[in-house]
Amino acid sequence: MRILVTAGPTREPLDPIRFISNRSTGKMGYAIAAAAAARGHDVVLVSGPVQLESPAGVSTFRIATAEEMLAAVREMVRSCDALVMAAAVTDWRPRNVSLRKIKKNRMRPTLPLERTPDILMSVREQKGDRVYVGFAAESDDLVVEARRKLEEKGLDLIVANDILRTDSGFESDNNKVALISADGIVEELPLMSKREVAERILDWVEKHKRN
Ligand code: C5P
Repeated sequence: MRILVTAGPTREPLDPIRFISNRSTGKMGYAIAAAAAARGHDVVLVSGPVQLESPAGVSTFRIATAEEMLAAVREMVRSCDALVMAAAVTDWRPRNVSLRKIKKNRMRPTLPLERTPDILMSVREQKGDRVYVGFAAESDDLVVEARRKLEEKGLDLIVANDILRTDSGFESDNNKVALISADGIVEELPLMSKREVAERILDWVEKHKRN
């Protein structure tokens, strides 16, 4: 199978040296890419700025902004059988990007923001019989919110994680997730390494693609 994985945060510039981003380290997406390559799949990874090496046997494309991630995904999803959007796309970006460093004494006290493009929504039309997997990081009503996102974005599977847990999720090597599929089945997984979570997601994708 040819699998497109996204990972890491995006960075939304404000001027040449400042940006808005989030705490994503990319570990979950990189674990999926590494595990998929180890299973013999053809893997393309689109990565935001992270401190991780490209996994063995994976073609990695490094981008910075949501707009760049969108362009890369749009282009590459066409030749793929599955898309796993593990990236933590930054939700807002500064409306105006200054080409010169903004002087702090001239900085406006407010920073006008606009939404970044929703990548999954933007490639919804291209889904066909591809398997689409998304992630939902929530602090409230985890399963309800994840289900809503699964439907809204037309996904086959959503991986829901509770970001308020301190032993998993952001910056951790472990993750505690629930797999929620479009047919309504919820599988709560115990706390496990991100590599093990990656294997479980890939088991699901492989099974779904065969059926
Ligand atoms: O809407 P929310 O950001 O919670 O949805 C999470 C899922 O949507 C993740 O799979 C994430 O990669 C994807 N996403 C996206 N484009 C965005 C924001 C999130 O594709 N702008």
